Amino acid sequence: MQDNQEIWKVALGVIELSISKANFNTWFKYTSIISIEDNHVIIGVPNGFAKEWLENKYQSYILSSLKTIIPDVNSLSCIISSSSEKNETSNIPTQTIPNSTKNYTAIKKQVVNPTVNNRIQLNSRYNFDSFIVGENNELAKAACHAVCENLGKIYNPLFIYGKVGLGKTHLLQSIGNCIRDKYPEKKIIYTTSEIFTGELIESIKTNKAAEFKKEYQKTDLLIIDDVQFLSGKEKTQQEFFHIFNALYQKNKQIVISSDRPPKSISTLEERLRSRFEGGMIADVSEPDLETRIAILRTKTLEKEFYISDEILRFIAKNIKNNVRELEGALNRIVAICDLYKREPTIESVTGILSEIIDSNKKTGIQNKDIINIILEFFEVTEEDLMSKSRKKEISLPRQIAMYLFRTELKLSYPGIGKYFGGRDHTTVLHAYEKINKNLNTDEKLKRDIDYLQEKLYTVV
Ligand code: ADP
Ligand code: MG
Repeated sequence: MQDNQEIWKVALGVIELSISKANFNTWFKYTSIISIEDNHVIIGVPNGFAKEWLENKYQSYILSSLKTIIPDVNSLSCIISSSSEKNETSNIPTQTIPNSTKNYTAIKKQVVNPTVNNRIQLNSRYNFDSFIVGENNELAKAACHAVCENLGKIYNPLFIYGKVGLGKTHLLQSIGNCIRDKYPEKKIIYTTSEIFTGELIESIKTNKAAEFKKEYQKTDLLIIDDVQFLSGKEKTQQEFFHIFNALYQKNKQIVISSDRPPKSISTLEERLRSRFEGGMIADVSEPDLETRIAILRTKTLEKEFYISDEILRFIAKNIKNNVRELEGALNRIVAICDLYKREPTIESVTGILSEIIDSNKKTGIQNKDIINIILEFFEVTEEDLMSKSRKKEISLPRQIAMYLFRTELKLSYPGIGKYFGGRDHTTVLHAYEKINKNLNTDEKLKRDIDYLQEKLYTVV
């Protein structure tokens, strides 16, 4: 029989992927499954506040994640259970969790009246040592590192941008942790632009705006994550501008992240934009296959869980969008394999990942995308591909194109034959089988096809 605790652990792994870390830590800490009966799940929560949030806001997230393990589950309710409090859920990192989640009043206070002092949310899990460097992030990592060595002296502000799940928060928090360890006396604030805005508004309401600003102006290192949410908030931007200037003039370090470069943040005050652009800007982009494998390998070592290279490669090949998804997939595999006490195999992993893989495949790749990539990569023309030429430099790209039509678009052999100038389906079958077979022995072919598949999914 599956243990409720284990089931909950897997479900939490899935939920964690869909909501922000702060919310996850706030609402899912000290929760557990009390019972599962007649397709109804009862979740134990530590207080009324969590009950309200889980039953309302997070109900659909919880149900859909539970369904991946127990497909028949269809409803849930929460009860306040003191045992949940002791039963700390093991896969929630402890560093970022405010102690105040332990009772209702404290949570309310934290949400409604946050103060600057009690909220340095640095998670020590995020450090430079645990950050894997690839071509996609080496500049950003080097810049962050340099900032730690020369606080406030070079690269000020440091602006890191890139899409979600590519390691921005990890890097920003690494700076925070590094400075905290090196200079315990330095005052550090790590915050997000949303929290900053919330605090500012609250301080104005409670006539504490001056204190609020003073608090910020006293920092040696100000880290603001996800600054894109300042967009359109004029009043907040003005206040931020003043804080920024005050710190900047005192050579205090400012580090900022955003999902896009300063010039693309619409409705960002011009003077703020030019401040942001006045320092160092570095981006993080999607890791390539080898970097993804390296990340997975490191994370399995951290978890002391053995997964063969073949399977790591398989996961890395299928999960390409971002590192958070990659990590989430791995967590899911580890948790499910633990749950059923079995070793991961390509088959079981395919099953576990099917949802993620399917949703990645729904990227709408078209015939044309494959053709274009082949034309560019092999420097042939479309005419060549459709022609009857048997020259190797033309027939190989053609065969690879057919192979990709089959593997990526799942088209029928006759359908593919028709597309390639009315060829017979046996020709296509032959091409597919040949490539498929050679992949086992021909390293270069394998590399080329890895590359093409990768390119295909990043282009779309
Ligand atoms: P972002 O802030 O850009 O949305 P995060 O920093 O939250 O992304 O990264 C998502 C997850 O992926 C985190 O758990 C982080 O530790 C992990 N991660 C991202 N990039 C790397 C990397 N290069 N090496 C190791 N872990 C990484
Ligand atoms: Mg982030």
